[in-house]
Amino acid sequence: DVARSTIAFEGHFARELPELAIPWRAEEAPDPQLLVLNQPLAVELGIDPDFLRSPEGVRLLIGNALPEEATPVAQGYSGHQFGWYSPRLGDGRALLLGEVSGADGTLRDLHLKGSGRTPFARNGDGQAAIGPMMREYIVSESMHALNIPTTRSLAVVATGRQVQRETLLPGAVLTRVASSHLRVGSFQYARASNDMDLLRRLADHAIERHHPSSADEANRYLELLKGVISVQAKLVAQWMLVGFVHGVMNTDNMTVSGETIDYGPCAFMEGFDPGAVYSSIDEMGRYAYRSQPVVAEWNLARFAESIAALIHQDEEQAVHLAVEALNGFRQEYSATWFNGMKAKLGLPEEIDDDVASPLVDDLLQLVQETRADYTSFFRSLGKAARGAAEPARRQLLDLAAFDAWLERWQALSPDADAMDRVNPIYIPRNHLVEEALAAATEGDMGPTERLLAAVSDPFRERSGLEKYAEPAPESFGPYRTFC
Ligand code: AMP
Ligand code: MG
Ligand code: MG
Repeated sequence: DVARSTIAFEGHFARELPELAIPWRAEEAPDPQLLVLNQPLAVELGIDPDFLRSPEGVRLLIGNALPEEATPVAQGYSGHQFGWYSPRLGDGRALLLGEVSGADGTLRDLHLKGSGRTPFARNGDGQAAIGPMMREYIVSESMHALNIPTTRSLAVVATGRQVQRETLLPGAVLTRVASSHLRVGSFQYARASNDMDLLRRLADHAIERHHPSSADEANRYLELLKGVISVQAKLVAQWMLVGFVHGVMNTDNMTVSGETIDYGPCAFMEGFDPGAVYSSIDEMGRYAYRSQPVVAEWNLARFAESIAALIHQDEEQAVHLAVEALNGFRQEYSATWFNGMKAKLGLPEEIDDDVASPLVDDLLQLVQETRADYTSFFRSLGKAARGAAEPARRQLLDLAAFDAWLERWQALSPDADAMDRVNPIYIPRNHLVEEALAAATEGDMGPTERLLAAVSDPFRERSGLEKYAEPAPESFGPYRTFC
């Protein structure tokens, strides 16, 4: 296949769902400068990376020089934000440029964030600063490397515009790639319009793109609901297994594809604490680490309500079927989480639950007691499986209890190599993310490039990368994120 020196946009969403799409153009950037380009992702999309680095390519990356056939739109959606319903959110500072057919033939959205005000902007300025866009780039690429479904980042381009936050900051546009931008909030928006034809078209569009096997089922919309429940249950279980706290699990930030979306006030947990909250705006701890599965289930209930009328004409029947489907969430979540925990302990899936379950519970209890660093503790357990228990042992206080635990665990012959394939050594440590964003804001991309190199290959230990494997120093203090 030939890498293209342009991007061939398709306009499926814009054409099929015009009620959810306002044709719009990206704001002209006075001085666009490419800060980071995801070369492997460009190749995956069949786009020539050298073209994207050229002045014309950079302007294309931010929607300033689009091919004639492109139909950029701002997408409409609703959302429950911290439990409160907003009927009209939508892309206030974002645009869907269109879909791109990748090297493997699958359709993927090319999307901009920070591309100027749209009709959905309300009081927002439509802008994004370099720091938050770079955060999304770093953390989404880390998630991808951790094998967790996520939107990807193709590029961050500085615009040459100043953005007013607490101070004046240099502005940027993120070019995002996603298997789609359909959210629970998209369905809430269509449902609220009372246009059943629109709701059905949206659901059919989602089935075609994400759950094509549902198309042949007797009740395809019930199958869609089950499919979304399933991918989200698996996704959130994977977040929990790596200690990821999304921070703003509003229904407009939950995809139908099962990809993680919207890296705002997110963070990786360091010291293990089920109640961990990092977002400065999450005052009630609604989106705390331990609450994520329950919130996902709540959001999925909002999705079920939105499409209930498609599932059955009779409301009582629809509710019955939807509740039954929603009950599947806990089962799927628990199975994924528990199998993931077994893998983190190097144990085979077939191992008896009566043995594995107390083993997992007892270990997490010990880790929680000392708030041991979640990522490095599990990584050091791999060393314990090879006979070197000390790196894990010295992170805990109750040594007698841990030694007893080790004996039970080692009797099951854990597979150390398998553990190293699922317990990452390099995650985007909060203090290093902050350091990278601060430097990028000052025009120095070095720290970002080095951090990206570490987290893009998270399971393979390399010498010289020690600082990327360690938690923040005490002096960093408690971590707060702002979006
Ligand atoms: P988020 O919390 O990032 O999911 O965003 C919630 C809503 O606010 C979405 O509708 C965004 O498009 C909108 N929004 C966030 N920041 C801005 C901004 N600077 N200008 C305009 N709209 C924004
Ligand atoms: Mg959002
Ligand atoms: Mg956001």
